[in-house]
Amino acid sequence: MRILLVEDDKIIGDGVVEGLGLDDYAVDWVENKRSALTALAANTYEFLILDLGLPDGSGLDVLRDVRQKGNDIPVLILTAYDTIQDKVKGLDGGADDYLIKPFDLDELRVRIRALSRRANGRSSPLLKTGDVTLDPAKRLVSRAGTPVNLGPKEFAILQTLMEKPGRVLSKAQIEDSLYGWDMEVESNTIEVHIHGIRKKLGKDCIQTVRHVGYKVEEA
Ligand code: CA
Repeated sequence: MRILLVEDDKIIGDGVVEGLGLDDYAVDWVENKRSALTALAANTYEFLILDLGLPDGSGLDVLRDVRQKGNDIPVLILTAYDTIQDKVKGLDGGADDYLIKPFDLDELRVRIRALSRRANGRSSPLLKTGDVTLDPAKRLVSRAGTPVNLGPKEFAILQTLMEKPGRVLSKAQIEDSLYGWDMEVESNTIEVHIHGIRKKLGKDCIQTVRHVGYKVEEA
């Protein structure tokens, strides 16, 4: 999952990027409002973490812009402004959640999982397709009850597909979801990982839709 982090505090930004890297999220980090708007216009993100006090304005302006464009990306506001009025403004402005600094990184990770689950129209914490089950929180995959060890990128690709069962995702869409803007991706990387997943979970767990992309069946 690709996340845009808008945060001008270097220590917090570093901490969030490093912490979310543990979950293999691809995090693009910008430090002001202008870069946030540019990044949002140029890329497809699946989650937005938004500080409110930015050097060139308020994160609420970014939020307003996102919602005005009809972008329904989950937005979590991360801020030191902790009055009731600030919360009301943020949530009424279209944010989905609110976390006050200082915050616990584990709590941030849990909230990201919960919000993206909802954004994908899911209430169960587990993902299923056929006899394959994926647990995003514990980072476990099993087939017919037997645990299967996937590499981090294999896990991320399978999760990306399983979050949108029945939908065909192109190679470019999968790449966008997995890699931030500073990461180099070889042209055959996705194919190689999908080959790896199929070797471990069975050939039929991911379907190739010729000239379009890949999908998993709905559970
Ligand atoms: Ca700030």
